[in-house]
Amino acid sequence: MKIGIICGYEINELTNNSEKIIVETIYGNVPIKFVKYKKNEIYFINRHGENKNIPPHKINYRANIQALKSCKIDNIISILTVGSMKKKIKAGDFVIPDDFIDFTKSRCLSYFDEDRIHIDMNNPFCPSLRKLLIESCEKIEKINIHTKGIYITTEGPRLETASEIKCFSNYSDIVGMTLVPEISLAREKGICYVSICIVCNMAAGLQKELSIDEISNTFIERKPQLFNVIQNFLQNIENKNICKCINK
Ligand SMILES: [Zn+2]
Repeated sequence: MKIGIICGYEINELTNNSEKIIVETIYGNVPIKFVKYKKNEIYFINRHGENKNIPPHKINYRANIQALKSCKIDNIISILTVGSMKKKIKAGDFVIPDDFIDFTKSRCLSYFDEDRIHIDMNNPFCPSLRKLLIESCEKIEKINIHTKGIYITTEGPRLETASEIKCFSNYSDIVGMTLVPEISLAREKGICYVSICIVCNMAAGLQKELSIDEISNTFIERKPQLFNVIQNFLQNIENKNICKCINK
């Protein structure tokens, strides 16, 4: 099976022996790390670009998803770092979100700029892939998993104010800047999409101060478990022809 993995950090354990390919799209060229992993073909994209420095509001989401579509991938696992807005969701926990709210402002949200096409978003995350991902997480010791959660996407690049978080927390659980429009563009292209969120900090107002180092340090600490989850996921997906969530 062909699987796309989109992450904001490198996962060297997965891409060590990868081959770099450049996929040309009408939205721009996308560098992809291609690696065969057991029976699967993995196409790894760093959503922040090769130099890892593209801010969330400037990411070329349309090019990234189009490139994966051009590679004929069936499923996308997106790895996201988030802040928690709920006390029960702590730094270091994993969340498999089941819905999202979009608070972005200036992004290219769709491939359908010329047609009146409205994609369904009742189940934005593929239920089959969610189930598989949850099962893959549950086999890993020493991680706290939340099998549901609502992700609110903010525009960034600034972090949120304490008042914004107080407001958002009434309607959602975790906050980040990169889920949207990646998820809806994948749906527009008929690709199943699932996310695993690594909680790296408590959001504004819920802890003393936030630093970018804190976010990346928590991610680095959790990387071994994340890699194990992905390994389990890839192991389990290879013999299953899943998904009826999108009319392909
Ligand atoms: Zn699906």
